This record gives sequence, C-alpha cells and structure tokens, in this order.
Amino acid sequence: MMKEENNQKIAIITGGSRGIGRAIAVELARAGCYTVINYLSDQAAADQTLALVREAGSDGEVTAFDVRDGQKAAAVIEDIAQRFGRIDVLVNNAGIIHDGLFMMMEPESWQSVIDTSLNGFYNMTRPVIEKMVRHRSGVVISLSSASAMMPNRGQANYSAAKAGLTAASRVVASEVARLGIRVNVVAPGLIETDMIKDAPRDYIKTMIPMARIGRPEEVAKVVAFLCSEDASYVTGQVISVNGGMC
Ligand code: NDP
Repeated sequence: MMKEENNQKIAIITGGSRGIGRAIAVELARAGCYTVINYLSDQAAADQTLALVREAGSDGEVTAFDVRDGQKAAAVIEDIAQRFGRIDVLVNNAGIIHDGLFMMMEPESWQSVIDTSLNGFYNMTRPVIEKMVRHRSGVVISLSSASAMMPNRGQANYSAAKAGLTAASRVVASEVARLGIRVNVVAPGLIETDMIKDAPRDYIKTMIPMARIGRPEEVAKVVAFLCSEDASYVTGQVISVNGGMC
C-alpha cells in the first residue's frame, strides 16, 4: 500500500470533480494519499469529491484551473511542490469529447479536444516529472481510451489526442525508468459517466463482450494498483479496462 507513516504521498488528479476522476481520487485516498483534486468549472462537484476523500479516511484540497493553460498548470504544480516538498502521483484524467464527422469538423472541435487531453498531458506531466526526478521516485498515470486503438466514427480528434498521449507516455516512461519514475496508461472502454450520457446504450452493449457498461470504480481500482508498490515493475504499459473489447 502507499500509506507510509509520517510520509503521506501527495497525488494530483486532473478532472477529479466527476466521473472516473472522482473515483480515482477516492481510491487513492483509501490508499492513504493526500489528494489534490483539479477541476475546470464545477466547484460543487469538486467539493463533493473532497468530502468523499475525507470519508475514505484521508484529506486533500480542490484547485480550479484549466489543464490547457500551461502557465497556470506549472504555477499550481510549483505551489504544491513548495508546500509539500514533493509530488508522488500524477493522474492525467481531464478529458472532453467533441464528436463529429471529420469532413465537417470545425477547427475549434479539433483544437479543444487535442488541447485538453494531449496538451494537458504535456502541461501537467513535464513540470511534475521535473519534481519527481529530483526525488528519484514518482508515478504518472494517464487516461487514454479504447478509441485510441480502434476507429470510432466521429472521434478523429479524440482518437488522435488519446493515441498521442499514449505514445508520448511510453517514450517518457523509457526516459525516466532509470530514475525511479513509472509512467503508465489506462485505456477505458465505455464507462458510466456524464461523458457518455448521450451514447446509444443498447447498441453499445452489443459491442462489449461483458454486455455492460463499466463503472468508474472499476477503472479507479486499476489506476490505484498501478500507483501502488504492487506495480513496482510495471512501466511504459497500456492497461485496457473495457469489458473485453478488442
Ligand atoms: P467526465 O466528463 O465525467 O468528467 C470530466 C472531468 O474533466 C471533469 O472533472 C471536468 O471538470 C474535467 N475537465 C474537463 N476539461 C478540463 C480542463 N480543460 N481542465 C481541467 N479539468 C477539465 O469524464 P469521464 O470521467 O468520463 O472521463 C475521464 C477520463 O477518462 C477522460 O480523459 C476521458 O477521455 C477518459 N475516458 C472516459 C470514458 C468513458 O466512457 N467515460 C472512456 C474512455 C476514456 P468540471 O467538472 O469542472 O467540468
């Protein structure tokens, strides 16, 4: 487990106010982490995540900023590192969809999705890795998607962002493995959150061998495992959590 006497681990979770990010924050709190819960605009939801973190027996804080804003992200990371002395875990979870057929996709749809998932990964991971290198330890997990690996009509922007994040993570993993830092990717299939509220459920279930949509907690448990010492020899990997979709 991650809990260490008088040496609580510090975890940052982007997009922790709702859905999968909230479940990850709670699971890491259960493992003893102090959780820094980032969100974009839904403060009430972020506060609710913090309440759940406290119920889970740990503590944390909420911090609103846009992961697309590299300067702001770097300033928040610097502040956390100054106050706590280090950052042990980063979960790049913030992500959005803006679906549409590629031939009709407006630049804004392309850019906003790439900016959030892929540039957000860069904006957070680069400054955090710098801190982790100094301590010769740390774990970075980024949320990709089954869409990064299989063609999903209407998701050229999202697939590109998630595939880019996956490829970048594997490179970063190889660069920092000798420095005690592990970098992995979790690729969920269809998970019950606001993100898929408009998805055609009955049709979707026919594509999933387990014939059901996943729960945020089922993703969070895998993320928590990858963050733990139980995964001490796992780096540069993509772990799918998708009910058996190939
Ligand atoms: P939700 O839509 O439920 O939640 C998105 C979260 O990201 C919210 O906390 C939101 O904050 C935050 N967010 C969005 N944009 C930004 C930004 N620019 N800066 C900071 N925070 C931001 O998403 P899910 O929980 O479903 O998805 C979580 C991750 O998992 C995403 O990366 C997604 O792509 C991935 N994923 C999800 C799947 C699914 O089926 N649900 C499947 C495969 C991958 P706020 O509450 O303030 O808006």
